[in-house]
Amino acid sequence: MNTSSRRIFWLIAVGAVLLMFGGAGSAPTTTATTTLSSDSSGSCDLADPAFTTWVPKEFECPICKTKNIFMVWGSYGSYIYQYPSKYQLIFWPFTDGPTCYSCKKCRLSVFLDDFEKIPAEKIAELRELLKTTSLPPQKERSEKESMEHPPYLDSPVSARLSVAEKVYRTLGKTDDEFWNHFYRVLAYHYDGEGKRAEALEARRKSIALTEKSLADKQNEGRRKDLLYILGAMRHFTNDDQGALKAFEEANKLEFSDKDLKPEQNKNYNEYLSHLIKEYIEMLKKGEGPRTKPQIGN
Ligand SMILES: [Zn+2]
Repeated sequence: MNTSSRRIFWLIAVGAVLLMFGGAGSAPTTTATTTLSSDSSGSCDLADPAFTTWVPKEFECPICKTKNIFMVWGSYGSYIYQYPSKYQLIFWPFTDGPTCYSCKKCRLSVFLDDFEKIPAEKIAELRELLKTTSLPPQKERSEKESMEHPPYLDSPVSARLSVAEKVYRTLGKTDDEFWNHFYRVLAYHYDGEGKRAEALEARRKSIALTEKSLADKQNEGRRKDLLYILGAMRHFTNDDQGALKAFEEANKLEFSDKDLKPEQNKNYNEYLSHLIKEYIEMLKKGEGPRTKPQIGN
């Protein structure tokens, strides 16, 4: 999934969230805020992980031709935009372990359908790169067992993502938005594995990329979204004063991306406004999502 399709993917669903709670008028503001608040209590039915499903499927590795079983996403709903990972502006499926595929033989590791989109001219270079990477060997399982529990799921997500980081560099990914998202996702998984120092380091990379994007005049209409990311990552790196400053600046802005329809811009702007308001209220009380469980729903 490339950066632009990912953005559209969740913006459309954000529109669906607002519609689900009663249309695009002023009513959703209150209703959606109530739903956002109920996340922290863990009692929100909509956040039940049973609503997202994965299905096993066989893939042939484009590099070593080995057959692997990976999971493809089967179903999800717009409730994923109310999961606590919204406080880091990352969403299912990227918050879920099956998302990063990894070949059991050559260790080629990338997100989802990128596995099947490796350009032929990059294969020789990737083959050499992968010789320099290491991952714990995957368990040998029969095809039936692999369909029930694909062996790649036993590798820590952060280890697979660390190989994916090198693969995407070799593929020539230079897009700051891609890498900003990548490091937020990596930090989230480090957190889930209890690797706090590594999570901090990944979030500092996200902060540096966000600051770079904010300095670029071409991103003028996206400042609200970028300042939200900056505030969130500052909060998650224990800089609450800096976070509050970013959220208060973001709160005065309106999101506008020229590639989106007015309705999509409006919906996403409202979604961000809810999150910013929530963050400001939490931070003023000395609270915030950093201290609450981020994984598992
Ligand atoms: Zn392979």
